[in-house]
Amino acid sequence: MHVESGAIVNQGAYAELRVQSETVNFQDPPPPYTPPVEGPTVTSQPIIHQTIILQVPLRSNPVYYTCDSCHERVYTKVKYVNSRKTHLLAGFICGFTCWCLICCLGAIPYLVKSFKKAEHYCPNCDKLLGTYSKI
Ligand SMILES: [Zn+2]
Repeated sequence: MHVESGAIVNQGAYAELRVQSETVNFQDPPPPYTPPVEGPTVTSQPIIHQTIILQVPLRSNPVYYTCDSCHERVYTKVKYVNSRKTHLLAGFICGFTCWCLICCLGAIPYLVKSFKKAEHYCPNCDKLLGTYSKI
């Protein structure tokens, strides 16, 4: 598009100003922006130290255990109590041996601690830490 003197002619990417048949070119457009090259970004994140205590599984014997209540590492105190399984086993043995008059063997589960439920207690605060039953 051509216009007479004093007009701006826009032709695509650049513009020309014509003043009385004298052509004045504007400067070339600035080079495209390139972001400055930065070094590796170092961000300071807080270091979190987390202590993980692995508890050993409870067994029928006392174990070292960390109490949830007093947060002490203790050697558990174990009480052996009769559970429902102990009564069922005693009833089964008694019923099975009743015909030969040795049903007194049904008392065996009440006498052997392997047939009872082991309850682990903290010796400091007497909190129940967990139970274990072999049967
Ligand atoms: Zn405790």
